[in-house]
Amino acid sequence: MKLNIKNTLTTELPADVVKENTRRQVENAAFSYVLPKKTAKPEILHVSKEMASELGISNTETKTDFFKNIVTGNDIYPNTTPYAMCYAGHQFGNWAGQLGDGRAINLFEVEYQNKNWKVQLKGAGETPYSRTADGLAVLRSSVREYLCSEAMFYLGVPTTRALSLSLSGDAVLRDVLYDGNPAYEKGAIVARISPSFLRFGSFEIFTARDDLKNLKVLVDYTIKHHFPHLGAPSKENYIAFFKEVTERTLKMIIDWQRVGFVHGVMNTDNMSILGLTIDFGPYGWLEGFDFGWTPNTTDRQHKRYRYGNQPNMGLWNLYQLANALYPIIEDVTPLETILKQYTTDFEQQSLTMMKSKLGLSISDADDLQLIQRLEDNLQLVETDMTIFFRKLSDFTDAESSLLLIEKAFYDFENISNEVKDTWNLWFKKYANRLQKELISSEERKQKMDAVNPKYVLRNYMSQMAIDEADKGNYTLIDELFQLLKKPYETQPEQEKWFSKRPEWARNKVGCSMLSCSS
Ligand code: AMP
Ligand code: MG
Repeated sequence: MKLNIKNTLTTELPADVVKENTRRQVENAAFSYVLPKKTAKPEILHVSKEMASELGISNTETKTDFFKNIVTGNDIYPNTTPYAMCYAGHQFGNWAGQLGDGRAINLFEVEYQNKNWKVQLKGAGETPYSRTADGLAVLRSSVREYLCSEAMFYLGVPTTRALSLSLSGDAVLRDVLYDGNPAYEKGAIVARISPSFLRFGSFEIFTARDDLKNLKVLVDYTIKHHFPHLGAPSKENYIAFFKEVTERTLKMIIDWQRVGFVHGVMNTDNMSILGLTIDFGPYGWLEGFDFGWTPNTTDRQHKRYRYGNQPNMGLWNLYQLANALYPIIEDVTPLETILKQYTTDFEQQSLTMMKSKLGLSISDADDLQLIQRLEDNLQLVETDMTIFFRKLSDFTDAESSLLLIEKAFYDFENISNEVKDTWNLWFKKYANRLQKELISSEERKQKMDAVNPKYVLRNYMSQMAIDEADKGNYTLIDELFQLLKKPYETQPEQEKWFSKRPEWARNKVGCSMLSCSS
């Protein structure tokens, strides 16, 4: 396996001068050199062939011991120097100080077909940033990150990717519910891939420490490698940089809202500077449409990161980034203008996105109201978001509409007449509105099916794959992986996954309740 290694980050950003792998505050540095931990019995469970080929790794090469040892941290690729990154963050609205890669170790950068990729292991052992934890990851959270990051990619949502999912062969102690009952679980490692793993928190840490020299070095590096079209460093370009990060963040969140993805932990250390979905922890997919839903039990009380609040939280995080960049811009007005624009853009893009889900292409003054009524209706009784929107593309007439979406209701038999009337009224309005459209119903269906996925990684699906994997059976991981590569296609042979969450999963840990314990 010959990789085209090209390390920009470690050569251009300041390194921690301390070489010992001890937990501490790391000053004047963007990263610390650290080696992954050797594991007892590494075993690869799945490889994303598509991602491997993006790195210039052949299918045959992924089957070698060398590949296995690299992606589990048991061997170091020649002439490379693994490292953990230093960053800070605002967690659940509060400043948390230094966080950093506590359980992630970056291996190297690969340049292939004019793209530069960072290869990072999650769960490969402790680093100076591990604080009180062990630097390891367990099988359940690794299966979830592996499947979801690739699924997001195929849904067309900006995201970090995954190369491989492996068992380490070590046992890892976890208290899943934080209730004082820790138990051993199988340790696992995901090799994840991104053009950059820099986060808002990577910038915040320098500003918080008044280290403006390194803040500028980091911003200049980021623009040079990831926003090269912005040109040479200048105040104007720093403003343009912030503007583009804002726009990318908004685009990502609009996509989350479109497919019903709830990140669960939108802390600033989990916000990618490239506007990619990053750090798949206690995330979840909406089943019943509900603006108030969050999968994260740690956030159960305030529901800060609930589905309907994600756009606001994106903005809140961008305020923190603006504060972090302020010292090298020294002008509040342009930053405030960009932040204000986010809200305007959100309203406009959200409307466009919802209209696309409904198959509406022309402008009509009543569209916003039609959409708001729909969102109200979807929350009257438990109604499956994915099934509802997918079925809607087969809409023909208001008369048979309730039957069309019957499958989306969790308890169709017990829906009151009042609720049925409300729905029928909405469908009449929708039918009237469709009259104004200029395209054929076939064309409309085609467009709707391209934005309303048929298959998403429902929480119970991951849990089934995890339960099987825990027993040593990995076929479901592959089945879901293949299914989610074509989320918008009909795949009639896979119809069983186009169904509501089964009752057994309603209150099961891992399906509706997830904690940060990964
Ligand atoms: P998260 O919000 O889950 O992405 O993580 C917040 C912080 O906790 C990051 O700095 C992580 O690196 C760190 N962290 C989470 N789990 C572990 C672990 N098992 N060992 C070390 N650090 C961890
Ligand atoms: Mg994180």
